[in-house]
Amino acid sequence: VKESAVPGISVKEVAKPELGRGEVLLKVSRGSICGSDLGLYEYTAAYADFAKLPVVPGHEFAGEVVEVGREVSGLEIGDRVVAESVVSCTSCRYCRSGQPNLCVQFKIFGIHTNGGFSEYAVVPFRHMHRLPDRITFQEGALIEPLSVACHALLDIAKMAIADHIVIIGPGPIGLLTAKLAQALGCTNLLIAGIEADQNRLELARRMGFTTINSSENDVVREALDRSDGLGVDIVVVAAGAEMALTQACQVVRKGGKIINIGIYPNPVQLAVTGLVRRQISLLGVFASVWENYEKAIELVSNRKVDLNILVTHKYSIEQAASAFESAKTKEGCKVQLMM
Ligand SMILES: [Zn+2]
Ligand SMILES: [Zn+2]
Repeated sequence: VKESAVPGISVKEVAKPELGRGEVLLKVSRGSICGSDLGLYEYTAAYADFAKLPVVPGHEFAGEVVEVGREVSGLEIGDRVVAESVVSCTSCRYCRSGQPNLCVQFKIFGIHTNGGFSEYAVVPFRHMHRLPDRITFQEGALIEPLSVACHALLDIAKMAIADHIVIIGPGPIGLLTAKLAQALGCTNLLIAGIEADQNRLELARRMGFTTINSSENDVVREALDRSDGLGVDIVVVAAGAEMALTQACQVVRKGGKIINIGIYPNPVQLAVTGLVRRQISLLGVFASVWENYEKAIELVSNRKVDLNILVTHKYSIEQAASAFESAKTKEGCKVQLMM
């Protein structure tokens, strides 16, 4: 439970949640710690005026349906499921026009309403997706971040297979985006990180990707060399850092797109005139929508994307504080909690 506006987290017994209309009780099996969970844990400025405390963290979680409320259809006790991260209202302009991730009353599990780092979680049935038997709960708890990568590359970047892509930030979202780009047929992909990302760049290389440490090498020159001096079609910024955004502006080609998935802890300075004259699109990506989850499940089920290589650390829920501390060091990639 995140109880107070200071860094840290506490592990405690909470009441088993009550089921409301249209809701399902989930016996959670696995949860994955995300960068935003870390933001909440540290209580950075980006979360201090965003979160609603006290709250049970976690928006990346999978488990089994153990109780079904009134007016629930399509789900039964025993179904293995993954929950979406955003609870939407169904009736606002965005919900009605297929953008429930932008719902005016949106709530994120684990930030605005109790999430999945708990033995039991309550989720509206319309925000659940059934997992095929061949997808494990370990993989299921990574469907949400893969769905964000799907939203980024398919819906926002509208990636074409011939596109040259640079991904800045080799964290879980960066690596998942790389995996997805590869699964979609992209063959010209460069992953950039800094000195502190050494372990993750190493993991990226083990996954078969080309990487560059921009603390030691010139990422701009490398990206330009790889794209006839023009720059790349798509830059994905999966690191909330001013330097990453500056590099993105330098490696993107005229008319190209910069896709921002990272959350910036602080405001950044940006030379906008260059973006205007070079007709660059600077785009944000927030969470994902229903079809992105379905696509992610299909890709994992068909073994087009292997998620297990990203899981480097596992902790029991009782060791949640250690799990968060481990995630903070960035020594591994995805840290999971076992309920
Ligand atoms: Zn997440
Ligand atoms: Zn809505």
